Amino acid sequence: MAKKIKFQHPTGMHDILPHEQRHFRRIYQLVEDVADFYSFGRIDTPILENAELFNKGTGTQTDIVQKEMYLLKSKGGDVLALRPEGTPPVARAYIEHGMSSRPQPVKLYYYGPFFRHEKPQAGRYRQFWQFGFEVLGEENPVIDAQIIQISYNLLSEIGVKNISVEINSIGDKECRPLYRKALVKHLRSNSSCLCNNCKRRMKDNPLRVLDCKEEKCQEVKQEAPQMVDFLCSGCKTHFKKVLEYLDEIELPYTLEPHLVRGLDYYTKTVFEFFSNKDEESSLALGGGGRYDYLINQLGGKETPAVGTAFGVERLAQAIRKDNLPSTKKKRTKIFLAQLGESARKKSLRMTESLRKAKVSIEESLGKDSLKAQLARASRIGARYTIIIGQKEALEETAIIKDMESGKQETVKMDKVIDRVKKLLKE
Ligand code: AMP
Repeated sequence: MAKKIKFQHPTGMHDILPHEQRHFRRIYQLVEDVADFYSFGRIDTPILENAELFNKGTGTQTDIVQKEMYLLKSKGGDVLALRPEGTPPVARAYIEHGMSSRPQPVKLYYYGPFFRHEKPQAGRYRQFWQFGFEVLGEENPVIDAQIIQISYNLLSEIGVKNISVEINSIGDKECRPLYRKALVKHLRSNSSCLCNNCKRRMKDNPLRVLDCKEEKCQEVKQEAPQMVDFLCSGCKTHFKKVLEYLDEIELPYTLEPHLVRGLDYYTKTVFEFFSNKDEESSLALGGGGRYDYLINQLGGKETPAVGTAFGVERLAQAIRKDNLPSTKKKRTKIFLAQLGESARKKSLRMTESLRKAKVSIEESLGKDSLKAQLARASRIGARYTIIIGQKEALEETAIIKDMESGKQETVKMDKVIDRVKKLLKE
C-alpha cells in the first residue's frame, strides 16, 4: 500500500493564518500612509531575477549570495534566483525603465516576500516579508537623514517600543581601501583568536568580520581600527551633515563605529534599527544606507541613492510582544439569512448588491437551517439580520430583524439596502 504523505510547510517558511493577518495589515496600512505622504511610488518586481543581478549587486562574497540564495535553472537554461533582497531589483528596474530621465530623485517603495536559505530560528526565516523605501538620484545628506526619520517615525507609529538607531559611515572607494588595509593588519595580528569563518572572511571580505556574532571575534572587533578615523574629506563632511540633520530633528541615535551591514554595495552612511537592544536576542528590525555605486555597477549611469528595508515578521513579533493594538476587523453589523432554494438564489444576488453598496455582511449561504443561521448572527454580534424565506422570495421582499429588540419589518427587496443603511445610521 502506498505510504501516506503528511505535507507540511517547507522548513523555515510559514503560513500566516487569518488571526495573524491583522498585525501584517496594520503594518502594511502604515507603510502605505507614509509612502503616500512622502510621494513614494509602489514598485513590484518579479520574485525571480537573474542570479547575476545579486552576484553583481549584493556581492559574491556576502553570506546572502554565497550561502543563502535559492537558485534554479529555467528550461531555457537561465540561472534565476528567488530574490533575497529588494534593492538590486529596484536598481535594475530604475535602469531598465529609463527612470534616470525622470525628475530626480525617483522615490520608490516595495512590499513583498523574500527568500534566504538561512538556518531557521526565531526571527530568521527562509521566506519572510520585507518592505523598503528607496530614493534614487539624490546625493544630498539630508535625504539620508530623512530616510532615517521616515523609518523611525514609521516604527513608532507601528507601536515599536524602545527604538534605537545605530549609525556609521563606511566611506567610499577613495577612503575605504585604506581602512580595509588597517583592518586586515589588525585581524592578521589577532588571527589566532578568530573563528574559522572569520579567518576566511579576513581574506575575502574583512569588513564582515566586524559583523560576526562569535564572542572571540567580538573581542578582536573591540580593538579594531574605526572607519571614522579613515574617512576622506568628502565622506567626513557628508557624515557630519547627516548627524547635524538628525540633531536638528532631535532624533536619538548611537554612533556605532563598527557597524558595516552585510551587503557589498553600501557607501558612506549605514544604519540599523532595534527595539530593546539590551536584550541578548535582539535582532535588527531593519536597516539601510547609501549605495552610490550600485546603479552604475549594474550598467546604469552614476546615480547616488539611499534606502531602508524592514522585516515584517520581526515587526509583527515586536507588536505581539508588547501586546499593542493592531487593526481590528470591522464588526459586521448585518447578517444575511435564507431559507429554501429560491431564497438562496435571491441571497446570492443580494450579497453582490450589498457589496456594491459597501454594506459589509456575513452570511451562511450553504446552510439550510434558519435557527442555525440566526444563532450565528447572534454569535458574531450582528445588529440586524436580513431574512429571505420562501414567502419573501416569492413576493420579492425581505425581513429585517433587529437582533436586540427582536422587532421585524418587511420591506421590498429593492428597498432593502436603503433601509438597512438608514437603520445603521440611526
Ligand atoms: P537586510 O536586507 O539583511 O538588511 O535585512 C533587513 C531586515 O529584513 C532585517 O533587519 C530583518 O528585519 C529582515 N530579515 C532579513 N533576513 C530575515 C530572515 N531570514 N527572516 C526574517 N526577517 C529577515
